Formats: sequence, structure tokens, C-alpha cells
Amino acid sequence: MARRRIIAGNWKMNKTPSEAVALCNELKDLVKNDDVDVVYCVPAIDIVPVAEAVKGTNVHVGAENFYIEDKGAFTGEISAPMLKEAGVEYVIIGHSERRDIFGENDILINQKVKKAFASGLTPIMCCGESLALRKAGTYKEWIARQIKWDLTDITADQVKTLVIAYEPIWAIGTGETATADQAEEVCKMIREIIADLYDQATADAVRIQYGGSMNAANAAELLSKPNIDGGLIGGASLKPDFGQIVNA
Ligand code: PEP
Repeated sequence: MARRRIIAGNWKMNKTPSEAVALCNELKDLVKNDDVDVVYCVPAIDIVPVAEAVKGTNVHVGAENFYIEDKGAFTGEISAPMLKEAGVEYVIIGHSERRDIFGENDILINQKVKKAFASGLTPIMCCGESLALRKAGTYKEWIARQIKWDLTDITADQVKTLVIAYEPIWAIGTGETATADQAEEVCKMIREIIADLYDQATADAVRIQYGGSMNAANAAELLSKPNIDGGLIGGASLKPDFGQIVNA
């Protein structure tokens, strides 16, 4: 089954509003590709100017985080209705930095996946193992557990539209990429888990990205693998290289 490729940038805590608009303008011609979904997941304060800057282009806007309530006394948080009104279509959920630095667990991540779907946002749901788990050889069990917890009570129809990002933590921001075979092994396993939890049609539809030091030099090989449908890109999404990844 042909799945549409999805290349998403995770800008993290980079770019002031004016710098964000400048980056959109710099990348505008480089990321043109009608066969790929291109997404910029940007800091909350950049969402409105980025949505304006990419209007009329093939770029979709994503958020890096949100909270599960619509409104109220949640100082510092941003809600799904706020994101929707600002033009956001995708939201990263369960990134390892949210898990490790901000203490998000799989219960909250599952609540966020549910809320995103209920709000008409497409989750980019992240999973991945630490270096210790990779070395211990228990990474497959770990990832399987994350997927099961994070998808509790999510329907097959929802999963068909979901994006899952496999991001080995040891490859994020380290310059150390998983080899294309290592990435494919886990992405294939994730698709098999979805087939077990749901059915083959759902597994065939779900899009699975690799993330972790993907760049202009290694993207084509990673993206040539049958179970890798795209990339979630940190560092290289802030540079013209991002255009080469989109067109790899
Ligand atoms: C990320 O944080 O999602 C990521 C993949 O970062 P980098 O590309 O910089 O490794």
C-alpha cells in the first residue's frame, strides 16, 4: 500500500518569531514537493507568524506540545482549540525530551493522543529507547510497551491517520544516526505491533517516521526502506538541508 511520505521539522526551542518567518522564507522554494507532506512543528509563540508565512505553500503547521484541557487554570500551557484556531494540523506527542526533561509519562501521553484526535489534530506520536536499553537488548519490548500504553482506547480508524515517530534517544541530537537497517528493523516491528493490536489494513495505513540525526547525507538511504514513511528532523530542520531531506 502506498503511504504518503511525511517529513516534519521539530524546531524545538529555537527561533524567535522574526527568525521563524525568515527561516520559512529561506526554505520556501527548497521544500516544494507535491508528493510529500511537509510539516514545521514550531514553538508556540511562532505558530501564528509561521502559519501566515507558509500560507499558500505546501507546508503544514505543527505544534511541539499542548495540554489536554480546553481552557482554565493551567499556567504556561496551550490548548488544542488554541492550536486549531491558529492553523495547526499536527502535534508532536511523547517526544523523549518531554518524557525525560518534563516528566511526561505514558498515561499523560495517551491522554494527549486521545485529546488530539478529539480536537481534529494529527498526533506525531514518538517512541524510542535509551542507549542503555539498546545495549541491554531489551529495546523491542520497551518500544512495544510504549506503543500499547500510548494507544490505549485509540480506534483503528484513528490509528490509520496517526503518525508514529521512532526516535532512538541515543541518536537524537548526537550526530549518531541509527543505520538504515537498525531503523527499518524497529519501524517494521512497530507496524507488526499495530497489526497485532488492530488489523493489517490499519498497519498498512499508519505512517511511521524515523528520527535521530537525519540529515541531507543519510536521508535517502533511510527513506528508501519499506517501513520508513518519513522523518522527524531536529537540527537539520533549521537549515537549507531540510529541503534536501524533503526531496531525498
Ligand atoms: C528530534 O529531536 O526529534 C530529532 C530527531 O532531533 P535531531 O534530528 O537533531 O537528532
